[in-house]
Amino acid sequence: MTQEIDIDFQNIKTTGIKVNYLYICERKLWFFDRGIQMESKSDKVLLGKLTGESSYPREQKRELLIDNLINIDIVGSDEIREVKYSNRMRHADRIQLLYYLYYLKHLGVEKKGVINYPKMRKREEVILTKDSEGEVVIALLRVQEILKMDKPLQLQRKSYCNKCAYFELCWG
Ligand code: SF4
Repeated sequence: MTQEIDIDFQNIKTTGIKVNYLYICERKLWFFDRGIQMESKSDKVLLGKLTGESSYPREQKRELLIDNLINIDIVGSDEIREVKYSNRMRHADRIQLLYYLYYLKHLGVEKKGVINYPKMRKREEVILTKDSEGEVVIALLRVQEILKMDKPLQLQRKSYCNKCAYFELCWG
C-alpha cells in the first residue's frame, strides 16, 4: 500500500544509526540517544566496524558522511553500499539503507542500494519505492516519538538481548 504522508524532512531527519536501532529495539534507541553508549565494549559491534573497514579494499570511492547524520560505506556511480558483518538484523540494515536512499533523494540524488554481507558472501538489493518511502517516513516519525519520551520503553525480552551491548543495563 502506498503511504503518502506530508512531512517536514528537515525537522525529523536523524542519524542512520538511530533509524537502524529503531528496528532492533526501541529501548536501545532511547539509551543510545541519551548518551548511554556501551557499544564500544561489544565485540560484535567492533567486528562489524572492522568488516566495513577491511572489506573491498580496492574500492575507489569509500565512506561518505553527509550532514554528520548519515555515513555511507561505499558510494558508486549508480549505487550506494553498506557492508555488514551478519544478516541477523537484516530488517534493520534494510531500513537504514532505505533511509540513506531517501536522504539522498532529498538532496536530488537517486541511486539504488546494496547491502553486502562479505562473511556470508551475500548481497541484498534495496530499492526506494513509494511504499518504502512511506516506511522510512513512519520510521522517522517513530524515532522522534521515542526520543521525546522521558523514560525508556518497558522491558521486553528479545531473542538477541544476550548479545546486546545494553544487556547488563536491562537484565543485569
Ligand atoms: S538488552 Fe534487549 S531490551 Fe535491552 S536494549 Fe538490548 S535488545 Fe533492547
